[in-house]
Amino acid sequence: MKVILDSHTHIDNKGSLGIGIDHESPLEFLDFKSLIEEKQLGVLANAACASEYEELSQIKGIFISFGIHPWNADEFCEENNQKGGSREQTIEQYIHTKVQELKDYYRKAHAIGEIGMDSVWCACDLTLQKLLFREQLSMAVELQKPIVLHTKGQEKEIADILKDYSLKKLVHWYSCEEHLKSFIDQDCYFTVGPDHGFNPAVKKLIHAVPLNRLLVETDGISAVEWATGRKVNASEIPTILKETIQAIAAVKGVSPETAEIRLEENFYRYLSV
Ligand SMILES: [Zn+2]
Repeated sequence: MKVILDSHTHIDNKGSLGIGIDHESPLEFLDFKSLIEEKQLGVLANAACASEYEELSQIKGIFISFGIHPWNADEFCEENNQKGGSREQTIEQYIHTKVQELKDYYRKAHAIGEIGMDSVWCACDLTLQKLLFREQLSMAVELQKPIVLHTKGQEKEIADILKDYSLKKLVHWYSCEEHLKSFIDQDCYFTVGPDHGFNPAVKKLIHAVPLNRLLVETDGISAVEWATGRKVNASEIPTILKETIQAIAAVKGVSPETAEIRLEENFYRYLSV
């Protein structure tokens, strides 16, 4: 049996170290560990902090992306803000130093992300988000790592910023009906998520993006539960990913088996340097 690949996910591990934000199952981490180590599932899982990276790296055969999420921009800069901004260094210098302190994690990870900007689902200061995003893009250039992008509400701004950086780019769960072409023109990879059946922007994306730039993702169990409106177990994830691949295959006029092979090639091509 072929491994089904999830090109962007979050694995909750509340059960051991209290990591994870919005899911209740302490067994989730162990369930995913079994699925991945038994080669039923391959994942590029996201680590948003050093301790989450350490936890995920216990899973044999896992691929990890590491980056400071735009939702955490205020928290990341909290120390500096508490001091009312240091007189000795600018906020740019502060962010640069803090990102450099995490360099080992960026280096060990297979990709840098998810990084980006968001003006819809979080209230973090956009100036801080942008500085943090650019700093992590520079790190990706320095280390020659592919990136995973979060673009909600900031699609145009991000498409413009990306023109300054020569990198392999994966746009995660793009759900904007505009600006898609700017990303396609920059040779981005795109993940299709579990809302492919009802989200018009995602349907449009499957049609517009060439098959050699498409991937599938879940964005974690809580995102799948949001999209399907029901409780979901880790063991169902390979089937849910296969359904997304089938939807892509139908639009692209190829068999599901062919689509699965193409998407697997895309996954490894995206991660290779
Ligand atoms: Zn995500």
